[in-house]
Amino acid sequence: METDKGDGQKNSRSSSDLLVDRHANKENTVINVNGIEIGGQNVIIIAGPCAVENRVQLLETAKEVSAAGANILRGGAYKPRTSPYSFQGLGEEGLKYLSEARKLTGLPVVTEVMDTRLMELVCEYTDIIQIGSRSMHNFPLLKEAGKCRKPVLFKRGLMATIDEYLLAAEYILSEGNNQVILCERGIRTFETSTRNTLDLSAIPVLKQRTHLPVIVDPSHGTGHSWLVPAMAKAAIAAGADGVMVEVHYKPLEALSDGLQSLYPNEFTQLVKDIEKIAKAIGRKKLSR
Ligand code: PEP
Ligand code: MN
Repeated sequence: METDKGDGQKNSRSSSDLLVDRHANKENTVINVNGIEIGGQNVIIIAGPCAVENRVQLLETAKEVSAAGANILRGGAYKPRTSPYSFQGLGEEGLKYLSEARKLTGLPVVTEVMDTRLMELVCEYTDIIQIGSRSMHNFPLLKEAGKCRKPVLFKRGLMATIDEYLLAAEYILSEGNNQVILCERGIRTFETSTRNTLDLSAIPVLKQRTHLPVIVDPSHGTGHSWLVPAMAKAAIAAGADGVMVEVHYKPLEALSDGLQSLYPNEFTQLVKDIEKIAKAIGRKKLSR
């Protein structure tokens, strides 16, 4: 991996002594979120709606994913939408509903932060901070995440090579936070039959190159709910430490990403199938 400063000079830390590098840590990094281990022997499932839309939507969906066996609840309160006229999320009101859903289900929560000015506020409410694909190159935001004491679910940029992705993760670790969960979520290619091209080969590559947990998001990776179970199962078979899946109690009414959101019954079936795949490769889906 090149760590060229851009002027031909090399940085003092060479590629082999990057903090993200597999050689920096002999053991895999295992991240403990309220007793849930990510990156250990067991695989985990994160599920929930794309966005927190209202109290009822979040609580109903949270109850469904919890009953199905999800380990962690997701839901965006600040949404990075392509159009400024699309639903942008409920902001702090959404964070409050996430807290309520945590209390109701006992599931830890993960939610995205897009703005350095909101890092402290989001950290107060969430168990895991998400940094989204579009923010992968936002270095001030990465440094801020590196200073906080919460695990970071860090998504691969949609146009980022693995080298660029790992150097971006290095920004978080270099500020003192090594609680980073990598997440493959699809990259942009010439292919249009899927929303993105899910790079499943990134899983073994990242596993070889780093000691960090690797999860996969087949929802944004494909853009279509019917493709999600196949890619989620393939991700676990390929060695991912977990998956993050969008589920909505009424996908047809979703304010964002309804097309790629599973119905609760589809998610229930997927959890059962993941249990079987995990077992087949000598792992277990972390029980609830
Ligand atoms: C998300 O997971 O809520 C999201 C916006 O995904 P991405 O950043 O991968 O597009
Ligand atoms: Mn989404």
